[in-house]
Amino acid sequence: MIPLIHLKKQFQAVKKEVLKELEEVLDSGQYILGPKVKELEKRIAQKLGVQEAVAVANGTDALVLTLEAYGIGKGDEVITTPFTFFASAEAISRVGATPVFVDVDPLTYNLDPKKVEETVTTATKAIIPVHIFGQPADMDDIMAIAKKHELFVIEDACQAFGADYRGRPVGSLGDAACFSFFPTKNLGTLGDGGMVVMSDPDLADQIRQLRTHGTNKKYFHDKIGFNSRLDELHAAILLILLEKIDGWNEQRREIAKRYKESLALAPHLTLPQEKADRTHIYHLYCIGAKNRSDMMKSLEKQQIHSGVYYPCCLHLQNVYASLPYNKGDFPVAESLSATLFAIPMSPFLSREEQDQVISALLESGEEDR
Ligand SMILES: *Cc1c(COP(=O)(O)O)cnc(C)c1O
Repeated sequence: MIPLIHLKKQFQAVKKEVLKELEEVLDSGQYILGPKVKELEKRIAQKLGVQEAVAVANGTDALVLTLEAYGIGKGDEVITTPFTFFASAEAISRVGATPVFVDVDPLTYNLDPKKVEETVTTATKAIIPVHIFGQPADMDDIMAIAKKHELFVIEDACQAFGADYRGRPVGSLGDAACFSFFPTKNLGTLGDGGMVVMSDPDLADQIRQLRTHGTNKKYFHDKIGFNSRLDELHAAILLILLEKIDGWNEQRREIAKRYKESLALAPHLTLPQEKADRTHIYHLYCIGAKNRSDMMKSLEKQQIHSGVYYPCCLHLQNVYASLPYNKGDFPVAESLSATLFAIPMSPFLSREEQDQVISALLESGEEDR
């Protein structure tokens, strides 16, 4: 079976280094928020060209703690996309604020800046653009709107470590940015992990306080916080992966190029499009087809995994039934969620496997005709 993501192969590739680090951490006696975490924070901040990085327990917490640190809560609105993983909106609801959805651009699947501007009200406090599937959102336009209306911009960069936009890395574009190190992300560890990056030292202090029970000084608490820390072992593993990530992203881009060249003549498929001023790192390679479920079945028969990202837009989730949205409100997002599916993508996808995926997709088009 060709998996969607070659996780096992990826960790086999670094097994020796990981085991060495495991031994080092074991012997160190420091297991949470120790020197490895500090080193990881420093290295990621340097790589992204930001002043501060704060490691937390996962990507969702990265968003929640950032919103909380900005004092966003009840009565506030935060604009985001309905075409994302649930956590982008869940974090907004978790702090008591209201997610306000805006439709996406049909080309990049990211927030449509024009519609963002139309949606700003006096209650709007922040915008959370998501760099969906690894392609950066239209950040300059979004930042201009935010400046005009005095809003915070928090990048949800959980799917896009290493991507860049107009020559600047994702994570350095907004007021703050959130990353996830969940295993399946393009930079993912053997468990959960997350990070907030920013250049405002006060914000960094607030988030550092929040991640350890609202304390600056052990056993003295200034606010109600969270327990949201990163383990030394995960930081040590991430330090290894950080050395590989640019090469791995480059391999993803090469596979994407190959997919594009080989599938360009398949009229039954919509391929991802990359804007010229940014690099897509293809955390997921999603293609569109009207007869998605037939295509996925035919891939499955040929031992090729595929998956739907995302089958239900966030404005149509049960939990948000009380928000003022209906089916048809965001036609672009809804059509993407009805037609897109991910095909195998990983730096460890062999050339033979790529060929198998390509011929299976081309054949499935012939069956239609
Ligand atoms: C994965 C993901 C998150 C949440 O990250 P976790 O580490 O799983 O909590 C948030 N937003 C997006 C877009 C994601 O893909």
